[in-house]
Amino acid sequence: MRSGDRSLSATTPDDGVDVLVTPALEAETERLLSQRTRDIRFSPEMVRAYRRKDWPQRSKIARAWMIWVALISMAFVPVSYLLAPGFLVLSTIISGLLVPALHGGAYLVWRKPRSANVEGLALVLLMGSVMMAYGVLAVAAGGSNYERFLICIMYVNTIAIVVFNVGYLWALTLMACSTAIFFGFEIFNPAIALEEAIGTSIFFAMGMYAATIARKTQSILGQKAFLLSLRNEYRSDALRRANHQLEILATRDPLTGLGNRRSATDLIDRLWRDPTVPKAGIAFIMADIDLFKHLNDTAGHAAGDACIRRIADTIEESLRLGVDAVFRYGGEEFLVVLAHATPDLAWTIAQRIRSSVEALGIVNPGILAADGSTGVVTISLGVAFAHEGAAPEMVAKWADDALYDAKRGGRNIVFLSNAHAAAEDARHAQQVAVQPVQKIHVR
Ligand code: GH3
Ligand code: MG
Ligand code: MG
Repeated sequence: MRSGDRSLSATTPDDGVDVLVTPALEAETERLLSQRTRDIRFSPEMVRAYRRKDWPQRSKIARAWMIWVALISMAFVPVSYLLAPGFLVLSTIISGLLVPALHGGAYLVWRKPRSANVEGLALVLLMGSVMMAYGVLAVAAGGSNYERFLICIMYVNTIAIVVFNVGYLWALTLMACSTAIFFGFEIFNPAIALEEAIGTSIFFAMGMYAATIARKTQSILGQKAFLLSLRNEYRSDALRRANHQLEILATRDPLTGLGNRRSATDLIDRLWRDPTVPKAGIAFIMADIDLFKHLNDTAGHAAGDACIRRIADTIEESLRLGVDAVFRYGGEEFLVVLAHATPDLAWTIAQRIRSSVEALGIVNPGILAADGSTGVVTISLGVAFAHEGAAPEMVAKWADDALYDAKRGGRNIVFLSNAHAAAEDARHAQQVAVQPVQKIHVR
């Protein structure tokens, strides 16, 4: 059985969000989304949030690239044998071993989240070294293969700019390095003139620049999608919180933090519907503070409120944690619901509540004790058991009747209803205990 007590407030809204949306991020998101997409510029905090969210996908793409390009490079060995059969050893070393090894190193870098600069530098170093390696192969192969090898790598580097979501400046650096290496090898290509080397290099640089711009546009759109998803997150988060708040308002008593009468009804309905809960083990304890009106009238309403709060705590502490539940049923009236209980246990718990409340020693200036001193606050309790076929309303009425009998019997006592036992167990019918501890009468 779930407690109908303050544990309701302990439930926090489900926070299945990847990024912690701070108020600053929320404000920045709204501001950025209100302006033109192309003017979107992230603050350092937003960049961190974006990179954190983006990391799993970015890393997966990068690592898939490392594996595939390494494999393609190995597969290039037999192709380069067809193109330049005399350089099988060199192409095996470069294409089959060195380039896959370089990709293996880069794979390790991309396995963990790193700073944007480490990512960018790793990419530039990888692409630069791969290009140098293939440049050596190109020089060794010579002839028409010289340019073929270099062009092939320029293609690869252009695609890398699109695939890897590194910063704009790093994409430009990659473009500049690739073009410089390409040009460096081209001017030593005996098969072409200097003008042609310059022209081809500019041609490829332009292609790469176009790729860089495409990447930049893609990144801005990615950032906008991130902002929209962020907005979605905090809006649904706010909605979840509001719903949670509403649920608390609807089911909890604000003074004591206990479940209210409505949540008592919910719990009781659940218990009655649950076929695994034996109804004969369900007990209701109806408890009502004695002569509370006198406390209110003499000590004031605030003192009355404080008294209700302390008694709510005391009742809660007298129950089996996580098993029993207590609800504020009315003004100064509480309902305790026990499941899987025996009459002895219900009796013990009710007595524990009664004696603990008395032991609080809350002075009720409106009443006098037997010895003429000012009385203390006490509580009367009526206990009733359910049984198969008895509706909860009936059990509540039995408990209420027992409480009424406890009041009539002198207050500060527990009264066990025999209604449920009438048809079942006559033994309990006589089990009525009257234990007046403090004789009280109205001043
Ligand atoms: P009995 O022993 O027969 O129960 O007497 P009683 O005075 O406790 O019962 P009665 O029903 O005459 O008075 C209950 C009082 O509880 C009346 C009402 O003003 C007060 N009360 C109800 N809710 C609250 C509350 O939230 N705060 C305070 N301070 N008083 C409350
Ligand atoms: Mg009362
Ligand atoms: Mg009352």
